[in-house]
Amino acid sequence: MKILLDYNLEELEEIVMAMGEPKFRAKQLLDAMYNGKNFGEKININKSLLEKIIDAGAILQPIEIYKAKESKDGSVKFLYKLYDGNIIEGVLLKYAFGNSICVSTQVGCKMNCAFCASGLNGFVRNLSAGEILGQIIAVNKYLGGNLKDRKISNIVLMGSGEPLDNFDNVARFLSQITSESLYNFSVRNITISTCGLAPKIEKLADLGYNVTLSISLHAPNDTIRKQIMPIAKSYPISAILESAKYYNLVTSRRITIEYTLIEGVNNTPNHAMQLVNLLTDFPCHVNLIRLNEVEGRSLKAPTIGSCKQFLNILTSHQISATLRRSLGDDIEGACGQLRNKELKEKKD
Ligand code: SAH
Repeated sequence: MKILLDYNLEELEEIVMAMGEPKFRAKQLLDAMYNGKNFGEKININKSLLEKIIDAGAILQPIEIYKAKESKDGSVKFLYKLYDGNIIEGVLLKYAFGNSICVSTQVGCKMNCAFCASGLNGFVRNLSAGEILGQIIAVNKYLGGNLKDRKISNIVLMGSGEPLDNFDNVARFLSQITSESLYNFSVRNITISTCGLAPKIEKLADLGYNVTLSISLHAPNDTIRKQIMPIAKSYPISAILESAKYYNLVTSRRITIEYTLIEGVNNTPNHAMQLVNLLTDFPCHVNLIRLNEVEGRSLKAPTIGSCKQFLNILTSHQISATLRRSLGDDIEGACGQLRNKELKEKKD
């Protein structure tokens, strides 16, 4: 037992009872943790239980906000410190419909996509369910929220790491975040983004959470995809779309296709037409993203004009698509960039 946020209510009840405390104190404990409380603060936990938890070396909050960088457009980039000293990052985006938080699922990433900053320093470890949850608790507290008055309305698992490569912890996180007696998030407001681990997409469908599934496609054919995403060597686009269709069938949710436009790689009118052919009759919405250029990666962003042209080709062929507004450009908004900068500064 270490990170108490890894446990659900029933498990915490067992733990609390094994410590010789009454069962109902587990809910007290959970409420305090979801309110963002940590040792050393005024905390509504029975004193004898608190002492036992401290003696057991358990952790109430596995992560803390280490740095927060506010952008001119209102978005906030966070660096969090984990209990073992590792650093991860996340971003809060403010939209008209509410606050959306982008969370990380791993320290680093194994996937090493050519455009992404997260894989640059390799993979370190998976985050536990409590560490994924801890990001939401910390930011909610940062915004002045608590368990009853939640200040975050949407969660996207689009930070560093590949969520489906950390399947069990992500599944546990989903069960906790949707728990009615706690934050009670609706699955409609949760998005999982994946580089396309086809078998895990089907496993996620079978889990029955019906969250929004977002597929990072980024290429209209396998040849280009293999050039920019090493995972494409394991799963061809056809297999990914097959699994995504299964996901749509089981959950009735429309799939989001993420497509980062990269100059000279995947952004010509011909590529747009290939994408049209691939996605016609596929129940999806395409999210085009102009590459956020990353230090240490050589790929370049296309002009905004050529991104709009790409978008027009899709929409004029009845593909539902939008060009995503780029938020947080001035605060290293792209995944992994702020963490890399921090790691570099520490080395220098
Ligand atoms: N591993 C998951 C989630 C993390 S990446 C996935 O692959 O989906 C979240 C999204 O940001 C992905 O679509 C990813 O391809 C995209 N992305 C990463 N780096 C980017 C960059 N520099 N510019 C634009 N989009 C980027």
